Amino acid sequence: MIVAMTRGADDTLVSAVEERIRSYGLVPIRLPGGERVAIGIVSAIPTETRETLAETLQVMDGVDHVTHVSRPYKLASREFHAVDTVISIGQTEFGGRRLALIAGPCSVETEDQMMAAAQTVKAAGGTMLRGGAFKPRTSPYAFQGLGREGLKIMRDAAKAHGLSTVSEVMSPGDVAMVAEHVDMLQIGARSMQNYPLLVEAGASGHPVLLKRGPSASIDEFLLAAEYLLSRGARDVVLCERGVHPLDKTYVRNTLDLNAVPVLKEISHLPVIVDPSHGTGFARLVPPMALAAVACGADGLIVEMHPNPREARSDAAQALEPPVLIDLFRQVSRVAEAVGREARLAE
Ligand code: PEP
Ligand code: MN
Repeated sequence: MIVAMTRGADDTLVSAVEERIRSYGLVPIRLPGGERVAIGIVSAIPTETRETLAETLQVMDGVDHVTHVSRPYKLASREFHAVDTVISIGQTEFGGRRLALIAGPCSVETEDQMMAAAQTVKAAGGTMLRGGAFKPRTSPYAFQGLGREGLKIMRDAAKAHGLSTVSEVMSPGDVAMVAEHVDMLQIGARSMQNYPLLVEAGASGHPVLLKRGPSASIDEFLLAAEYLLSRGARDVVLCERGVHPLDKTYVRNTLDLNAVPVLKEISHLPVIVDPSHGTGFARLVPPMALAAVACGADGLIVEMHPNPREARSDAAQALEPPVLIDLFRQVSRVAEAVGREARLAE
């Protein structure tokens, strides 16, 4: 941490800041500059002290600004964990050479729908089935999901086709129950900053797919991951799913593909992309899915529906079964071009 004093801050003010730093058991070092004095901290600052210290120093007389030198997250950062984290769930691998290919409907609706969806996902070369049973809907009158019953339907369909499962959990009180039914918990974009939920999901030790909030910065996203890791989770996968767009005329969200190489650079956690919520329209999903693989994503989570016109949520972005099959074929070719592989050998 560096504390930059204002121009003209006198020795009394500088000494007071040094004294405050010492009161935390830390060692300040004065760095005289041409125009102003800065004060560095030589010793390691305990993670729990960092925010409070920065805030108290910031409001002291003569302090211009306080800058952090290290990143605010430790467990999620490559600074402290240089090697890529690789996570295996059934046949799905996150962060290794092979891409994680996840697909399924937005919502679990019926047994037939999930059986048909699972069959297509399997045929396409996917290894994990998605489907929401607890749905975060903007309107309280919209379909809210089938709850526990939906999780059972999904589990049976996945089992019948040798797939793993991922589904959203919205409430801390449901974490244990959802974890019993699915292989991976999903924390949705709207819940990325629901801290009690992150604490509970992290403590469950279950694998978590953490989606980026629609307005979350990269640091906020990684701090949400830090919540999970600091409570004991190891298997955390980051998912870029689009941020609020400048213009909603043509897209639902803006898929921030910059986030993929940025996150891979500063974090060791696997990063996958959701081109469905990231665009909002089925015809935009394939090109953005391919772009995501080209820029280094470790996998994709894609919405499809056996009959998109009948989907009870997110119909406009659901891929028809043949389109999903064709997309994953193309994904294989792009994966190969960038030194990765996609589908299991047929
Ligand atoms: C979903 O996966 O169906 C979903 C609601 O996603 P997000 O949280 O990214 O909006
Ligand atoms: Mn959806």
